[in-house]
Amino acid sequence: MASMKALFKAAPQPGALELREIEWPSPRADEVVIDVAGASICGSDLHIAEWHPMAQWTVTPVIMGHEFAGVIREVGSAVSDYQPGDAVAVESVIWCGTCPRCREGKTNVCDNRRLFGLHVPGGLAQAVAAPTKLLHRLPAGLRPEHAALAEPTTVALHAVLLQPPQPGDVVLVTGPGPIGLLCGRIARAFGAQVLISGTPADAARRLPAARELGLEPLDPSRPLHESIDGPVDLVLESSGAGAALTDAMQLVKRGGGITLIGMPSRNVELDLAVALRGEIALRASYCGTWHDFERALRLIADGIIPAEAIIARYPLDRALEAFADASAQRVLKPLVHP
Ligand SMILES: [Zn+2]
Ligand SMILES: [Zn+2]
Repeated sequence: MASMKALFKAAPQPGALELREIEWPSPRADEVVIDVAGASICGSDLHIAEWHPMAQWTVTPVIMGHEFAGVIREVGSAVSDYQPGDAVAVESVIWCGTCPRCREGKTNVCDNRRLFGLHVPGGLAQAVAAPTKLLHRLPAGLRPEHAALAEPTTVALHAVLLQPPQPGDVVLVTGPGPIGLLCGRIARAFGAQVLISGTPADAARRLPAARELGLEPLDPSRPLHESIDGPVDLVLESSGAGAALTDAMQLVKRGGGITLIGMPSRNVELDLAVALRGEIALRASYCGTWHDFERALRLIADGIIPAEAIIARYPLDRALEAFADASAQRVLKPLVHP
């Protein structure tokens, strides 16, 4: 085959998503080329599609997709530890390995980071090139398409591990999008009771899905403090909404923690005196590290993250429909496959 299909963000404006035929990628010396088995679409991809101000560091035209996994089809001239046929998932943050942050092991906040699907060609394509330093082999029995969820699971796991709940703790997840659901599942695996809140728009699909995933959805038509009996031990703020953060400050116990995971799309005003007087730990979480990614793959392989219950499949030719369905919340997490 002379050409492959790929989904481009073609121009820096709303829309401008185009399925194009382009040449197959070929690997640089330290890269492999992966036949994509699955690439999932995330809230940040919807922001890129809408050309939201938060997404405007994307460099167009670019092949979208930062959550993907597949099987190696070709290896570069300097690659000796991977071969065609190996199943791998790929970290989304392209870290440099040499800046002070990378040397501290905090590759997620690398000073020189770039991202697949924003700055280099991503996984919403039949194939994608990636350097071997970003690859992770799949645990035995894990289907390559399910491994696309390793990236968002890494985001959730990194956040939960920043302030891990203890068994029996009550955890409130604010925001029942895919990251909130994944955070809730992981907090459950720690032995916590997990409450999850959303807005009336989440009542049709996301909150019922949360219940099926073993979480306890709160009634979105009632104020949160009426639905929750007593302060919670920890809040995993997965919505990015200022109102959710204000709620979190009121609902968390003194000495408790709030972990910030949802990316706010505008400035948020907070009464920090509440946090100070209650010694509430506010911690921000961003992406994840190599170790988080390895563990995320095992969580999916073990069924702690039930991939099949979260994804909705779309062939690459129908990628635009996947974006529309994700925007309208008709599905939890679209997974595009060639
Ligand atoms: Zn993502
Ligand atoms: Zn770095």
